[in-house]
Amino acid sequence: MNPTTDPTLVSWVETAQGSDFPIQNLPWSIFSTADRAPRAGIAIGDRVLDAAVLAEAGLLGDLPAGVFATGVLNDFIALGPETWSRVRAAVSDLLRADTARLRDDTALRAAALLPATSVKLHLPIRVEGYTDFYSSREHATNVGRMFRPDGEPLLPNWLHIPIGYSGRASTIVVSGTPIHRPLGQTRAPSDPAPSFGPCRKLDFELEMAAIVGVPNEMGRPMTIAEADRAIFGFALFNDWSARDIQQWEYVPLGPFQAKVFASTLSPWIVTAEAMAVARVEGPRQEPEPLTYLRQSGAMNFDVELEVALTPAGGSEPTVISRSNFAHMYWSSAQQLVHHAIGGCAMKVGDVLGSGTISGPTPGSYGSLLELSWNGKTPVTLADGSARSFLLDGDRLAIRGRVRRGGVTLGFGPCDGEILAAPAFG
Ligand code: CA
Repeated sequence: MNPTTDPTLVSWVETAQGSDFPIQNLPWSIFSTADRAPRAGIAIGDRVLDAAVLAEAGLLGDLPAGVFATGVLNDFIALGPETWSRVRAAVSDLLRADTARLRDDTALRAAALLPATSVKLHLPIRVEGYTDFYSSREHATNVGRMFRPDGEPLLPNWLHIPIGYSGRASTIVVSGTPIHRPLGQTRAPSDPAPSFGPCRKLDFELEMAAIVGVPNEMGRPMTIAEADRAIFGFALFNDWSARDIQQWEYVPLGPFQAKVFASTLSPWIVTAEAMAVARVEGPRQEPEPLTYLRQSGAMNFDVELEVALTPAGGSEPTVISRSNFAHMYWSSAQQLVHHAIGGCAMKVGDVLGSGTISGPTPGSYGSLLELSWNGKTPVTLADGSARSFLLDGDRLAIRGRVRRGGVTLGFGPCDGEILAAPAFG
């Protein structure tokens, strides 16, 4: 077993039972304080460990000077899997209950260990590129039934290709960033002509993001084993979607304006090394994928996911969906293999959106489009109000947790509030 994920490990930093950030997790983000520019940090209990301070004190081994003080994690991630693992082992060792080095150095501890409430979290990576997939069979089937009621719900390519499209890296934002309702062009099937205005079917998509940590050269594809090792970690992800814009524009080249206005990433990236405890086999793939996409063993991750909606003007959240990352038909490694197979150069800091993660039952659907069945069955909230899609002032919160051996690994919040459409014209 990897000693850093041993469920019996205990830290001298107090971590409440069920905390998202026990010593087994050690996720990465970027934080700042009133007197510190953005730098890399690691969550432990209700504290944030300043990786730049630890590195300057020589406690993280041989690393390029300033690698944690660039304001993004890309420079650290680019050092590769052996360095990720070595630094994780060093941090884990420093935080163990029986390691005195940092525990008993009052001055260093004061400099390196900050209350989480005193820091501001930032987008943890410079997002180089963003590709969104469509890899939940349940989600693709539900959307096919709604958007193409007279055809087969799954198009013929779906069981052979991890379907994806190129999204916009420029509008990936960190949790807590408010989201403006997009303006756009729509035409419902019954409308005689298209019209322009604020989106009327604003939706969320419950997803996870895989963060690419090892690049490949243009023209040099990866194998499935290489792709699996190339993923630095995972974060929660909300791929906000404008369904009315999407339905009018998506044929024949896929979504465009319906998706480019915003996607929200949780601040903490849980490393693939920590996530290893959550590995499970995915659904059986039938027909068997072509050779380059074949995988075996536990390539999915058991992450419990939850979506809560707090209505405009209200204070009480209602959980509207409970799903699990394990439902994905295509794994993140298969998505990455497929992405690079034609020669695409993947970069450190690329984001792969899993695609909406819907489970098999209505309560596990990962979008309002499915939960309300495109408005036919509105979702009832705790205050008695109903939602088919999001209204201005609504707040959406995604949470995710791995539970293994009495230990919980969380990702922190993936939240956003809907603001009115911008004034235009
Ligand atoms: Ca999506």
